[in-house]
Amino acid sequence: MSKDPLDDYLLPHYIHKSNWLRAAVLGANDGILSTASIAVGVAAAGSTRGALILAALAGLVAGALSMAAGEYVSVSSQTDIEKADIKREQQELEEMPDLELQRLAQIYESRGLKKETAMQVARELTAHDALGAHVRDELGINEVSQARPLQAALASGASFTAGAVLPLGVSVFMPVEGMVYYQYGFAIFFLALLGAMAARAGGAGITKAVVRITFWGTAAMALTALVGHLFGVNV
Ligand SMILES: [Zn+2]
Repeated sequence: MSKDPLDDYLLPHYIHKSNWLRAAVLGANDGILSTASIAVGVAAAGSTRGALILAALAGLVAGALSMAAGEYVSVSSQTDIEKADIKREQQELEEMPDLELQRLAQIYESRGLKKETAMQVARELTAHDALGAHVRDELGINEVSQARPLQAALASGASFTAGAVLPLGVSVFMPVEGMVYYQYGFAIFFLALLGAMAARAGGAGITKAVVRITFWGTAAMALTALVGHLFGVNV
């Protein structure tokens, strides 16, 4: 595809990257945080390496599958709604083309076009691709926002797994003695790194993102460590 010469002068926009970026970072964060929290809880209960590895592995598999299934179900229902809306729109275009034309012109007018220009644009776009114009400008469904359930589910499951592999690796390779601190240290480091990368890629403030993820990560792992400790003492 030929490069748009305007790109040399205009700043890049991030909105097109935001959907999959957000899902990837959320998935990886979840993978790190939920699996590390499980491992911290089991380590705080004074468990063996075998039990630690098993808990981290179970957390990875269960988490990845539930993230993928949850994403698939929620995005599929969004697809269903989009499809039903598009079908309704097609029907309205067949039954009430004049009203639909007026509706489209109103939308362009509300975006700042003069009445005559808005109607002219509505007429030309309707002649070119009526359904396309209404789906994009009236329903707000476009290439970027269109739901792809399987893609979303795979991305979610894969990013969760990518995150969860870290605490699993720590439970395999780091000494059992002090495992709580190793899990916490590695998890917080990678959570902060992910937070910084996501903020930078999205053009947002890095410090705020890092402080936020570090705070909530610490809170989650501290709580599970407490539960694990209480459980360990009582068993
Ligand atoms: Zn319409």
